[in-house]
Amino acid sequence: MSLIVQKFGGSSVADKDRIFNVANIATQAFSEGNDVIVVLSAQGDTTDDLLAKAGEINSNPTTREMDMLLSTGEQISISLLAMAIQALGFPVVSLTGWQIGLRTDSNHSAARIKSLTNTRIQEELSNRKIVIVAGFQGINKSYDITTLGRGGSDTTAVALAAQLRADLCQIYTDVDGIYTADPRKIKNAKKLDHISYDEMIELATMGAQVLHNRSIDLAKRYNVNLEVLSSFSRLPGTIVKENDQMEKMLVRGIAKDEDVAVIELIDVKDIPGIAFKVFSLIANKKISVDMILQSTGRNGNRDISFTISKSNVENAVKALDELKPILGFTEVSVNEDVAKISLVGTGMINNAGIAAGMFEALSNSDINIQMISSSEIKISILIDKKNADRAVQAIHDHFFD
Ligand code: ASP
Ligand code: MG
Repeated sequence: MSLIVQKFGGSSVADKDRIFNVANIATQAFSEGNDVIVVLSAQGDTTDDLLAKAGEINSNPTTREMDMLLSTGEQISISLLAMAIQALGFPVVSLTGWQIGLRTDSNHSAARIKSLTNTRIQEELSNRKIVIVAGFQGINKSYDITTLGRGGSDTTAVALAAQLRADLCQIYTDVDGIYTADPRKIKNAKKLDHISYDEMIELATMGAQVLHNRSIDLAKRYNVNLEVLSSFSRLPGTIVKENDQMEKMLVRGIAKDEDVAVIELIDVKDIPGIAFKVFSLIANKKISVDMILQSTGRNGNRDISFTISKSNVENAVKALDELKPILGFTEVSVNEDVAKISLVGTGMINNAGIAAGMFEALSNSDINIQMISSSEIKISILIDKKNADRAVQAIHDHFFD
């Protein structure tokens, strides 16, 4: 007998038929003799609809009230699934975040899990019940409801699997697994049988929206066996696990991120300490910077460009204005019409030809590169947003056809 955590995303529980489909998957695993914990997201677009509803009333509500509202979506889906499982004649109980003692910090809307008391879950499992848990939510030290950030149910599922030492954590979604590129956009995108935690973290962070990236980080730290699979096709999915040398591939996948903006400081004085002043100021505002480029400007001055996410643009520009008199730059320009394309794979650090191949594919498609950055496991380039899909296809054709 094994302990299995099964997580289902919003599209997998969107309506009555899909709820019964999930009930069938869970009760089948249960009938095979396993202990089963099901973690759910809110149905379909519920979370977005709740956000819109809030927006009609107050454009800037506190995140505490927002969490109070958003957490209700999961409470609806867990009770409905429990009713479906009861209708099929199986023993079941649904539990909210506070009922399973999922404690978080007080960072409403992006809370981090601190601890999890599993006594209630253990008790219900030992009474041979299927346990259904509301994903995405917890409570802080004052018993206020918190949420883990959009997509956070994946993280709830992995945290439970880690804490209860589950044999397997299945993340059911509407795609068959992890692909070499977005299968809805890129022709010939291939499903991967395996991917390493590190590669998956990079793909998720770089814009492949299959898993909440914090969930993969957690899975890696606790060595949770993860499988990403479809609740519709019920075919084997992609296993996310520690890197396995025999499977080593140079290039694993390509991701596109359009939540990027470039900030450019023009005519910065060429004196020691400029980079320090600019980037420590940005860091103090808790804005993370991704790619950085310093180039020679006019009159012996420098231009400094860097990328941040779009939501941070306003704060960054405001902060940088303070530096104008000190660093002498004339202009802070912002370009939001860009996209970052990343090629990810553990093997690429030892192979110089990979970067060349990526640039060749872009050059053959006449796509201009604005910035480049690389690490052990990925190469990212920044290009005009209008070329993004064409660039991914060209790079994909080069490496996977
Ligand atoms: N319902 C939440 C969201 O839409 C959490 C989740 O789906 O994982 O972001
Ligand atoms: Mg999700």
